Amino acid sequence: MGEGAALVLEGPQANYLSAVMRLGPGAQLKLFDDRTGEWLAEITEAGKKRVSLRIVRQLRPREPVPDLWLLFAPIKRGRIDWIVEKATELGVARIVPVITRRTIVDRTNSDRLLAHMIEAAEQCERTALPELAEPQKLDALLRSWPEDRTLLFADENGGEPMREAVKPGPAAILIGPEGGFTEDERTAIGALHTARPASLGPRILRADTAVVAAISLWMAAAGDWDLAARHAGGMP
Ligand code: SAH
Repeated sequence: MGEGAALVLEGPQANYLSAVMRLGPGAQLKLFDDRTGEWLAEITEAGKKRVSLRIVRQLRPREPVPDLWLLFAPIKRGRIDWIVEKATELGVARIVPVITRRTIVDRTNSDRLLAHMIEAAEQCERTALPELAEPQKLDALLRSWPEDRTLLFADENGGEPMREAVKPGPAAILIGPEGGFTEDERTAIGALHTARPASLGPRILRADTAVVAAISLWMAAAGDWDLAARHAGGMP
């Protein structure tokens, strides 16, 4: 996108603007493209199937995103939608659905998840979306794990308190399925030298609650919740 550029929206986006919001020529709106940031645009032509716009000016650049990945075993539909929504709001860089032995959902609908992420981003004035990866099997993921990324493995059987396990630098949080990890999986994760078992306290949490608790602790300890750290250059 760039100042003065013309843009055409079709399908549900066009319908939403013209039929639902009843916006016509001259109406202004904010757009974001997850690459260049947020822009002010003006409608030049509005139909139910096609809305033409002209970019007026840039409002904000794409925001910086802390280098945190969320890896979780997909769960039931309503709850997985909730997880991607909250992860988007909290601001992770990448979301990876992980297939484990006890994962009960073996497919995820990426389009639906992405729609939830976009909606959450719009509602919360985000200018960046997490990257949504294709589902991956746990063993394949562990085999190709990047050397420089700490894997904070949320383990309900114990480990360092999450707050203390978090260190500065690239990280990923791994949350297991409702049935937890098997012993074999636990051993395989433990064999990775970048993995750190981390506890979220003495009470077992549902996977969706564990996701939000873990991301929050990471954001507070190593992310950008501390404005002083951000201004001191703690962000990538
Ligand atoms: N093992 C249990 C519960 C799994 S809870 C069972 O058999 O039903 C789902 C996931 O949430 C776990 O795999 C773990 O990653 C995370 N989790 C839940 N409570 C936790 C805690 N207190 N500390 C760390 N991780 C936790």
